[in-house]
Amino acid sequence: MTRSGKHILLLPGDGIGPEVVAEAVKVIDYLRGAGEIAVECDYGLIGGSACDECGVPLPDETLKAARRSDAVLMGAVGGPQYERLPRERRPEQGLLAIRRELGLFANLRPALSFAPLAACSALKEEKVSGLDLLIVRELTGGVYFGEPRGIRTASGGLREGYNTMVYREDEIERIARVAFDAAQKRGGKLCSVDKANVLEVSELWRDVVERVARDYPGVRLSHLYVDNAAMQLVREPKQFDVMVTSNLFGDILSDLAAMLTGSIGLLPSASLNGAGAGLYEPVHGSAPDIAGRQIANPLAAILSLAMLLRHSLGLPEPAARLERAVAAALARVRTADIAGGLAAVSTAQMGDAVVECYAG
Ligand code: NAD
Repeated sequence: MTRSGKHILLLPGDGIGPEVVAEAVKVIDYLRGAGEIAVECDYGLIGGSACDECGVPLPDETLKAARRSDAVLMGAVGGPQYERLPRERRPEQGLLAIRRELGLFANLRPALSFAPLAACSALKEEKVSGLDLLIVRELTGGVYFGEPRGIRTASGGLREGYNTMVYREDEIERIARVAFDAAQKRGGKLCSVDKANVLEVSELWRDVVERVARDYPGVRLSHLYVDNAAMQLVREPKQFDVMVTSNLFGDILSDLAAMLTGSIGLLPSASLNGAGAGLYEPVHGSAPDIAGRQIANPLAAILSLAMLLRHSLGLPEPAARLERAVAAALARVRTADIAGGLAAVSTAQMGDAVVECYAG
């Protein structure tokens, strides 16, 4: 029996968020009942549902509860009914704020091809079958946050937009260490992605990554320019083990890698602060087009829970067993997004199948 005595804050959010988080909770309840984990869970508000109840997308109470918790499991935020709100009250601002307030600088996005789904990929089956890639994206720096930024009137009265791509050495070093640590525990290969042939900020990135590499003699480090990395991900994705990159490049490459696996409904993510705390969430959004119909795929939420068990609760065995249960469930049943020619099961039935496979 494994005991952790930890606390999870559940933030279902909007759209399909509550439906998919309910299936992750079903798994937590099973693990608790079986004596495999000892966790307490509380619910909180974020996004549009928080705006509806409290007038802000990230209430103070939610932030305080997140700070007290060992980990946060989120569904998704957003929806067309919130698009006319002023920017600071839009649901997505709640997500950006919680990432910033908790200092979640490391975004881990695995792209794993489950054997029963290899044919669902946009690439040929043999290119993705067995794919197991982890993209480590820097999440709180780079051009998305750099100052100065804005739109100004330049000479001749024309408007010009500008942003600043900036990284300090310590920001590069801490994300590099997260990636080297991950590579050390996986296949021992790390590819750092930059644009050092054109950008000074990338020159520094490469220099710092090289320096950190000296502490990890067991990890084979390579470098790729981001344009080539995009090409290689489509040409031969299985050549990669772990990739590490900046906020902007990681945003683009991780979406590209996601599509190699079949459906956005399968993709989990973790955002970590380096001290063990983390926010875990599906890569997908609130999918308003299918919300409330019990047809959403809950596996991204369930796989996010597996990442939570591994990274924030220090429970690698139940995490690995849960990932195997997802693979086994996929061999039996499919939700509509990945059904192909098969009859589709509901969100809840997919959650039940995972619990049965875990138990069996
Ligand atoms: P989306 O990911 O919500 O949906 C894209 C498509 O994928 C839709 O057709 C949807 O039905 C489908 N899909 C998504 N998740 C699925 C699942 N689990 N099972 C089956 N099908 C699934 O992206 P979008 O439509 O661009 O955005 C909708 C809303 O979500 C917007 O308000 C957006 O701002 C928000 N959003 C939130 C997050 C987040 O909370 N992290 C991320 C992306 C988008």
